[in-house]
Amino acid sequence: MTTFTDLSLRNGRTFTQPTGLFINNEFVAGQGQPIESYDPYTGKQIATVHAASPEDVEKAVAAAEKAFDSWKHESSASRARLLHKLADLMERDLENLAAIEAMDSGKAYKIAQAVDIKGAIDTIRYFAGWTDKSFGQTIDTGPSSLNYTRHEPIGVVGQIVPWNFPLLIWAWKIAPAIACGNVCIIKSAEQTPLSALCAAALIKEAGFPPGVINVITGVGNVTGAAMASHPRIRKIAFTGSTPVGRSILKAAADSNLKRVTLELGGKSPNIVCEDADFEKAVESVTMGIFFNHGQNCCAGSRAYIHDGIFDRFVAAIKIRVSSLAIGDPFDEATFQGPQVSKLQFDRIMDLVEKGKAHGAEAIIGGNRHNAGDLFIEPTIFTKISQDSPLRGEIFGPVLCLERFTDLKDVVRKANDTEFGLAAGVHTKNIDKAIRLANEIESGIVWVNTYGSLPPQMPMGKSSSPAERKVADRISILGGFKQSGIGRDLGAQAMSEYSQIKAVQIALAG
Ligand code: NAD
Repeated sequence: MTTFTDLSLRNGRTFTQPTGLFINNEFVAGQGQPIESYDPYTGKQIATVHAASPEDVEKAVAAAEKAFDSWKHESSASRARLLHKLADLMERDLENLAAIEAMDSGKAYKIAQAVDIKGAIDTIRYFAGWTDKSFGQTIDTGPSSLNYTRHEPIGVVGQIVPWNFPLLIWAWKIAPAIACGNVCIIKSAEQTPLSALCAAALIKEAGFPPGVINVITGVGNVTGAAMASHPRIRKIAFTGSTPVGRSILKAAADSNLKRVTLELGGKSPNIVCEDADFEKAVESVTMGIFFNHGQNCCAGSRAYIHDGIFDRFVAAIKIRVSSLAIGDPFDEATFQGPQVSKLQFDRIMDLVEKGKAHGAEAIIGGNRHNAGDLFIEPTIFTKISQDSPLRGEIFGPVLCLERFTDLKDVVRKANDTEFGLAAGVHTKNIDKAIRLANEIESGIVWVNTYGSLPPQMPMGKSSSPAERKVADRISILGGFKQSGIGRDLGAQAMSEYSQIKAVQIALAG
């Protein structure tokens, strides 16, 4: 099997797609069972990629360890320059990367450009700016010593990413790790391996030394599990499902007590008070759940609408949702494409059917969509019973809508879950907004918006208002309760990828 294949992209271009494991700056064959990558819209195979066996993971670790010997002495300016160069090359290849992403995952090509790839580029540039701004402190303990702390890299870092934002989350992981001076082995999801391999080719072109960033593919319970239990990987950063997150934490404990950061599932509440800006709230609830076909860990999948506006809200959101353009990801207008895979489609439809059997009422949708094999109608359920399977994470275009009467009632409902990733609050009353934001147990609370980011976060700088509108819908994360441990993005991510050394120097005299 070769390590490159020529592809005709659906945006009309041709492209040479790497298909090997990227270890030591070369695309090499893997010993694992090869992975077929499919376009969920056409149902056609795009490429076959190599998969890493545990022995291949070992090779990647050896390459990374060797690279770390000199990389740890690389200047912060040099790390920044390389990250900026990688971002430049991704900008140059933006359309190819977006087309690959859209074909591999089923997301709309326009959205892949504006959100996924631009977001990845912005993330890499953001962390390039951090390389020389994360440093220690001096600590005054009196005249007899000088005490200071240093921020040092952790060493070999393993990173495991999911399929919902393949290249964006890839950038969320590698950029802070590299900014802090670590070396990485990053594994893409088996459903969407292609864009990470394209970016790997750019890593070499940017001039990163061999072994600093290794990009591998493989199935979770083989390649991912080998990474989680590897005795010389010093940290694992994972985004994906809660059960796999739990297994990674166990493997870390049973191997070398590697550090673990986890960004897991959610069932995030989006609250609309009686005094909210009504039109904005309808838009925010719609985008909060239906963006990226509901395949978003911080999707606002539970909406609580105040009793006084509930009926009016239902009427308005039905109109808004019926206007969402569903179809070919390469059509200009498309907002929603197919779900990522048959497995995910079946999981979601199974939950939808079980939800109906438990008495939930679909006020819109509730069926597969006729745009293609893996399409699901944007669906809104009400009358959800306490024991309904719809109360768990669905990870599809399914919103659970409920009424609430007062703030105590809605806080209790919002917090009645083991998840705690994100939340939205819509009100014009500042006291109410702050009280709700304080009371809700989640890693982020958006007020009068959902999923938008501050400028230092990756999505803040899209170039046109139209793109910005889409880009503003994306979320950043880190969870309370079982939604995770640690944080992606921002200054916090620099702490997640460095360790602190304290130095004490006794002073004579
Ligand atoms: P998953 O957690 O199984 O896979 C995510 C990543 O983990 C992939 O790279 C996968 O190869 C890897 N993985 C799987 N098993 C592993 C193991 N035992 N050890 C190490 N790595 C392993 O997620 P999925 O099956 O792709 O999706 C299922 C559910 O996960 C979704 O319905 C959703 O609830 C959740 N999910 C969450 C996110 C998120 O952004 N938080 C993203 C994707 C999926």
